[in-house]
Amino acid sequence: MNTAVQSAGVLAFEDAYEVVREHCQHILKAGDRPSEELLLMQGLGRVLAESVKADRDFPPFRRATRDGFAVRADDLASGVTLLRVVGQVRAGDSYDLPLASGEAVEIMTGAAVPVGADAVVMVEYTERKSQEINHKGHEGTQRRQEPEQTNPDPVDVLGLSKDEQAHPEEVVAEDLVEIQRSVASGENVVPAGAEARAGQELLPRGVRLGPAQIALAAAAGKASVKAYRKSKVAILSTGDELVDVAEKPGPSQIRNSNSYSLAALVTEYGGEPVQLPIAPDEESKLTELIHEGLKADMLLLSGGVSMGKFDLVEQALKALGAKFFFTGVLIQPGKPVVFGEVGAVPFFGLPGNPVSVMVTFELFARQMVEALGGAEPERVKSAKAKLRKEFKTKTGLTRFLPARLEGGLDDAEVEVVPWQGSGDMLAAAKANCYLVVPPDREKLAKGEIVTVVIR
Ligand code: AMP
Ligand code: MG
Repeated sequence: MNTAVQSAGVLAFEDAYEVVREHCQHILKAGDRPSEELLLMQGLGRVLAESVKADRDFPPFRRATRDGFAVRADDLASGVTLLRVVGQVRAGDSYDLPLASGEAVEIMTGAAVPVGADAVVMVEYTERKSQEINHKGHEGTQRRQEPEQTNPDPVDVLGLSKDEQAHPEEVVAEDLVEIQRSVASGENVVPAGAEARAGQELLPRGVRLGPAQIALAAAAGKASVKAYRKSKVAILSTGDELVDVAEKPGPSQIRNSNSYSLAALVTEYGGEPVQLPIAPDEESKLTELIHEGLKADMLLLSGGVSMGKFDLVEQALKALGAKFFFTGVLIQPGKPVVFGEVGAVPFFGLPGNPVSVMVTFELFARQMVEALGGAEPERVKSAKAKLRKEFKTKTGLTRFLPARLEGGLDDAEVEVVPWQGSGDMLAAAKANCYLVVPPDREKLAKGEIVTVVIR
């Protein structure tokens, strides 16, 4: 390895992580990237190239959050109270008459709270009653509306037969409800516009569309969205021992699995992988393929970055005028990882071991894929869990070891997956997280609360 490359430095994990994040910020600030219009569901996992605004208030009306009765909170100040039920309103209906003192409207979750009402009492704290009264005229009951009825025949509205209507002074049942609890004004009611006002930004440009963002865009009437085009990420595996997946490997050859783990990871984080042919450990052919890879928005190389005689990647990159931001990170697996750029094209040289390739991608390269796609890169997702078995190691490196996180919300436990070193793909496939061992720790004790990085 030449000295210019070495001088770029081997960094501690946190420093290398920040170097990559800083570079991502430059890329995001550079702005302007091509976009395309997509049907909303095609936008899943893509990055918004426009801001989505509320086309009306969210919620558009005062929304009941419980089944129960819409009331005037003041009516209930003196304990258990009997109110007259003057109507019913379901989600999708409206009750247009103002609610007067002494009245309640039966209401369902998601329905618009009638004017005059300022709270909803949950149905659990109420009891329906009816009371026989001498029906003189239609003073109270004429306010009843059954908006869900298609035929607003006055007979149905009043709940009286035509016969009874002919004799309005007859005894009829009045619909009452006993309210057993007082409520504060505003209880179980979300005011119109409480979540967002019409015209307000719901989703900013640069947001990645997951299920919650897709739902919000749908609620705002976006049948299609403008998303950034995916960034192209070239993938170049190096190594004389490698053969394509479809080929039959000789006794000392291995299949090029890294090209696939990387293509899968790039896809998962919103990029478009471009898998290049395998590069041999020979400088001119390697240089030719690197050149090809630099036509993409970013280049990922695997293998050939260690200290061996045939690890030619850094040398070839340097000959192409590469600038190196780091040439190693104090981590395990993945210590020889390099990061730099040729012209404006960023590259990562990832160590060839299959677990190292995945770990270094997730810790570093992943953020760059996101930034090139126009998204603010997500921080590494970590969680705390109880260590199931004691773990011993040497100090000096931050370790990210394939591990399994199990248990529930409050009793998460983690255990390292037994592995044969950073070439052990089976361990990587069994793992659902990486156990983080800080560089100053020789031992993590059984039962200790430790950090894991979620994959
Ligand atoms: P290297 O970083 O080139 O020294 O490779 C380290 C180890 O990873 C060696 O055992 C390689 O055979 C293996 N390896 C390198 N590239 C790949 C690849 N594309 N797919 C699977 N294993 C690889
Ligand atoms: Mg190699």
